Amino acid sequence: MGSTTSKSVVLKNETEIVGKAITKLGAGTQGPALSIAQAINDAGILREDISYSIGTGYGRNSFVDFMEGDSQLSELTCHARGAKFLVPTVRTVIDIGGQDSKAISLSEKGTLVSFFMNEKCAAGTGRFIEIIARALGLEIDQLAKVSSQSKNIVNISSVCTVFAESEVISQLAKNVDISDIIAGVHRSVANKVSGLVKRVGVRQDVVMSGGVAQNQGVVLALEEILHCNIIVPKYAQLAGAIGAALYASDSLTASKKE
Ligand code: ADP
Repeated sequence: MGSTTSKSVVLKNETEIVGKAITKLGAGTQGPALSIAQAINDAGILREDISYSIGTGYGRNSFVDFMEGDSQLSELTCHARGAKFLVPTVRTVIDIGGQDSKAISLSEKGTLVSFFMNEKCAAGTGRFIEIIARALGLEIDQLAKVSSQSKNIVNISSVCTVFAESEVISQLAKNVDISDIIAGVHRSVANKVSGLVKRVGVRQDVVMSGGVAQNQGVVLALEEILHCNIIVPKYAQLAGAIGAALYASDSLTASKKE
């Protein structure tokens, strides 16, 4: 249950992803309910066929209270588990979502060792990128391609999203190439997030999860700043939901043994 999108995953036989959905509606219960219905439909089953469900993210308490969910777990725990499932060799997870960003350090076994999170400031999150994309009249999925043309990255000096938006608009007015501006925006997000990653320590393999992982411009900027290779798994945006589904599977197995 994210701030910007809602993600659901249906697991079969503990490890097989048979249904998944991402809806562009976060927070509240409407988006999550829609994504659950879509993932169940994708799996070709009925809600009654779900043996155990776990909610994670912003509204995870309402998952149990209002959505007939079985239980809830913290987002960090689920992200760590999901990343380990997607890339078994992972030791560092960088997650950039719509409204927060976090860096998680994992042990070799995949347990959470430490983490740092930014949930107070829009800079360094997907929302920052969305606001700037809107100001430039572009869709978020166009940004990486445009920034790859950059020859002279613009330095975005404002740390506040509102000021950064004005800064971008004044750069446009000065006829600065849009690719250089967007590359500067990606660099600015990567700079902010790299601070969190350095605090947990960069240990290979480094995996990126969350919606912003789909923005290759941010991934490349992070690789440059952190001097490391970053793996972006196929289901990067679903990492938290996959982790929750894996814990749901564990709960089911445990209840069968009782
Ligand atoms: P949350 O879990 O907080 O709702 P997500 O992990 O789903 O957030 O990430 C949402 C962010 O991902 C958006 O703010 C946007 O910046 C980014 N994003 C989503 N889809 C794409 C895409 N196709 N290309 C680039 N960025 C994307």
